[in-house]
Amino acid sequence: MNFSFFNPTKVFFGIDCISNYDNHFLDIGKKALIVTGKSSAKKTGAYNDIISVLKKYNIDHVLFDDVSENPNFEIIERAKDFGIKNNVDFIIGIGGGSPMDAAKALAVLIANPDFDVEDLYNNNFDKALKIVEITTTSGTGSEVTQYSVLTDMDNNKRGFGNFKTFPYISFVDPKYTLELNFDLTLTTAVDAMSHSIEGLISNTSTDLTDLFAKKSLELIKNTLPIILSSESNLNDLSLRNDLSLASMYAGMVISQTGTVLPHVLGYGLTSNYGIRHGVATALFQLPVIRKINSENPQKLDTLYDVFYSFEDFNNFINDLNLDRYCTKLKSEDIDSFTKNALNSKHIKKTPATFTYDDIFSFYSEVCK
Ligand code: NAP
Ligand code: FE
Repeated sequence: MNFSFFNPTKVFFGIDCISNYDNHFLDIGKKALIVTGKSSAKKTGAYNDIISVLKKYNIDHVLFDDVSENPNFEIIERAKDFGIKNNVDFIIGIGGGSPMDAAKALAVLIANPDFDVEDLYNNNFDKALKIVEITTTSGTGSEVTQYSVLTDMDNNKRGFGNFKTFPYISFVDPKYTLELNFDLTLTTAVDAMSHSIEGLISNTSTDLTDLFAKKSLELIKNTLPIILSSESNLNDLSLRNDLSLASMYAGMVISQTGTVLPHVLGYGLTSNYGIRHGVATALFQLPVIRKINSENPQKLDTLYDVFYSFEDFNNFINDLNLDRYCTKLKSEDIDSFTKNALNSKHIKKTPATFTYDDIFSFYSEVCK
């Protein structure tokens, strides 16, 4: 087997990792643009931890705290103008995938002020400000990927990213995830699960990405049902540690393989029906894996190292009751989502044949 592996992000994992490794802020820049959502950056303590470090090293900052879930182009344009006006020279994203992805887009746009957001999708840039990411969810793995997923003017979720959008430094402190409620814990963890599954079925998988995928799926299989089984387990730091680790490993996987068919199938459910990204994607794991199981079962060896058989995998997914988040879809939407998936690059990396009728029926199966 021939393969390469490139991931330049310096990751610090563990309790209090920001203060333990704050010396990495010594030469990073003079003024930070901190990018967050409305409240979780402050509620989790991550914002205060960063402010203490910036004070210690005499680094100035401004705060843009208006990144909503699935950030759109308009938000990014506003944050870009704010960052340029304030002469920032590096970016800190704090939150889930939404603020972390916004931070990556801003790092490129502020370094290339002539760009508008659409220009990011040429992936033709070699300048970006340094990016620091602090994750407060355990799902996207954005803290170790080069990808940024934004919602465009036509309400489509689209990703971009190249070697310059890998974070320079990432901090993964599981204590920031302790306040995630049942729904956010489940809906983000299944995003990480999807990344590992899609990484191992992808035509671009390697022995090295399979190592990360397998470990990540073991952690999710052993942790997720337990953490969701009682209110007190949601606050268990050791379980949180394992989900944070699983999500980071899954991010390492997709930083090499990208995502495949289930991700693109889920995008329309998020943009048009408000179903959270992780669930929208995880809903399609069963039908896609069933098809691969019938056409190309050897591609599932690593999956079955963890879940043993299609039946066991089927039971694990069904026990999560993800259909509680579904609504009935309009058939004209299913038609356009299906055509979008058939034209995607994701489908080309998915190791089975998928027709229009197959995909149309997946939507009917998962959202009744
Ligand atoms: P998110 O959209 O960043 O946040 C969802 C919600 O969770 C927000 O209301 C947020 O509040 C809240 N929240 C975040 N951390 C919390 C905490 N510790 N305690 C309580 N509430 C908290 O969620 P996400 O699932 O992490 O990110 C989804 C986005 O990432 C999507 O746009 C998806 O497309 C993208 N994504 C990117 C990649 C990649 O490789 N770059 C991979 C997969 C998905 P606040 O608004 O107050 O922060
Ligand atoms: Fe994802």
